[in-house]
Amino acid sequence: MNSNRRHWMQLATLSASGALISGCWQGSQDARTAAGQSNTSDDRLPVVATTGMIADMVRSIGRDAVRLTQLIPAGVDPHLYKPIRDDVVAIVHSKIVFYNGLKLEGRMADVLGGGSKSDRVHVALSDSLDPSSLIGESSSDAIDPHIWMDVSMWSKTIGCIRDTLGRFLVHHQERLDRAAQELIVQLEALDRYGLEAIERIPKPQRILISSHDAFQYFGRRYGLRVEGVQGISTASEAGLQRIPELIELIGENSVPAVFKESSVAGKMIDAVIEGAASRRIELRVGKELYSDALGPVGSGAETYLGMMKHNFDKVAEALSGGRSTRSGM
Ligand SMILES: [Zn+2]
Repeated sequence: MNSNRRHWMQLATLSASGALISGCWQGSQDARTAAGQSNTSDDRLPVVATTGMIADMVRSIGRDAVRLTQLIPAGVDPHLYKPIRDDVVAIVHSKIVFYNGLKLEGRMADVLGGGSKSDRVHVALSDSLDPSSLIGESSSDAIDPHIWMDVSMWSKTIGCIRDTLGRFLVHHQERLDRAAQELIVQLEALDRYGLEAIERIPKPQRILISSHDAFQYFGRRYGLRVEGVQGISTASEAGLQRIPELIELIGENSVPAVFKESSVAGKMIDAVIEGAASRRIELRVGKELYSDALGPVGSGAETYLGMMKHNFDKVAEALSGGRSTRSGM
């Protein structure tokens, strides 16, 4: 048996002992009892988060009461992520697994989502959102999983994280409430910052073209038309037929720039640039955006707030034809 298959089988057995939590916290088991059963000498609550965006939120709310393991490292594409042995071990030893859901984490979410009662809970943050606020992909039944790209929407998952942690950390309730409230205020400011940044782009140039369709929620909230060379998953076939369509769109609307993404290979965007050049259309590559993963430590995008501020600034800068954007947030 190859190692990947073995890890999937280990994960599959995990699901049999993990509790499925739908719509955030609706579990019937007493998590307080479950938390008390921990036999680790470390008092902190062991929690697993899949992406950096989720880990950052959990860290901001749980702070030093939580021992957090982030499964998918900075710069790694979650659509293509395969768990390694250490990830399986971290899940087995955790009390809560927070994941995005909507098939962002591919087969892993399927495994995490299919559980029964135990002392570990699996929480899909997307389940805490109003289903009518989710974006469906027109060509299939798939739902767009990139919910963190609308800051006002991502903020709505804070209550789910706070309440789930609170079930285990009963003596920390006040601290959790305060940390969650602080985070909500920060995200409200970030959301306003985004609205103002994008508003500075001349209206006809508010078209965001990037490697894959990670920015639909971003576009809906902040007022941009969004086009990806690939669909909502990087695991999908990249449509070469998309490139001439996009070049047409760029030419018609004088779109000044297109964007690569930190967690996705940039060859499709290179093909768009080359195609535009062959049609004598001047087109620049904007600064790389952070779509499905945070940036490395020191990049300024190693937090969710930093990541989104980077995206707002770089999109506004490149699509405004290089005009500088407001700084100081
Ligand atoms: Zn994606």
